[in-house]
Amino acid sequence: MERVDILGVKVDAVTMAQAVERVAELIAARTPSMVATANAEMLLRTTHDAELKSILNAAKLVVPDGAGTVWAAHHLGKRMPERVAGADLVLELMRLAPARAWKFFLFGSAPGIADKAALKAQELCPGIKIVGTRNGYFTAEDEPDIIAQIKHSRPDVLLAALGVPKQEKWLAAHMNELGVPVSIGVGGTLDVMAGAVKRAPVWMQRARLEWLFRAMLQPSRAGRLVALPKFVWQVHKQKVNG
Ligand code: UDP
Repeated sequence: MERVDILGVKVDAVTMAQAVERVAELIAARTPSMVATANAEMLLRTTHDAELKSILNAAKLVVPDGAGTVWAAHHLGKRMPERVAGADLVLELMRLAPARAWKFFLFGSAPGIADKAALKAQELCPGIKIVGTRNGYFTAEDEPDIIAQIKHSRPDVLLAALGVPKQEKWLAAHMNELGVPVSIGVGGTLDVMAGAVKRAPVWMQRARLEWLFRAMLQPSRAGRLVALPKFVWQVHKQKVNG
């Protein structure tokens, strides 16, 4: 599989269909594997977070989540077929889940959100097995219980929605112990599924403006937009310096 180096992180040049196929292979392999969804903000963060960078480079699949990641690959003269948004990847996997008997555990977000997301999943994908949920607000003392809960429910796919980089670091620290075949850091996906946060309208997604929609809806996130010009600048520096 082709991987494109963006700011030192190897991002897989995959379509949605290829990403889904790869996840299916990882589930079948049964060895604990991490799947990451790399957007511009995450990639920029790796320039000053070496731990996150090495976690991403050890992941079995890093999908281009976001217009910024696809743009970066193209600016560097590489092939990157399409955007594979984490929220869309999760939905595609959930659609296949009943037929393939894949079981999901939803971990993260505010209390009640993962349960609402589970109900939505059952409505959208009848027959899907959500074997457990747990909110993402916990202390170090709660961790053994959380780990035991996930382990004993034996999911095939663990969705961790703790935000970047907490979810990636938590998964890297615990995935071998958890023994779940595929763990994915999914950011705000459970909020979107639960209906607590709206996804941008399709025309805005197509116009590559989902980031703008999110900032408009949650002004507290607007400050995070400064990452975008910084990301563009860093990618350009990478291109010039080779
Ligand atoms: N979150 C959590 N525990 C924390 C911090 C955050 O469960 O300690 C959740 C938060 O409620 C939200 C998600 O993590 O559902 C982060 O969403 P965001 O859209 O900010 O994701 P990112 O852009 O960081 O991927």
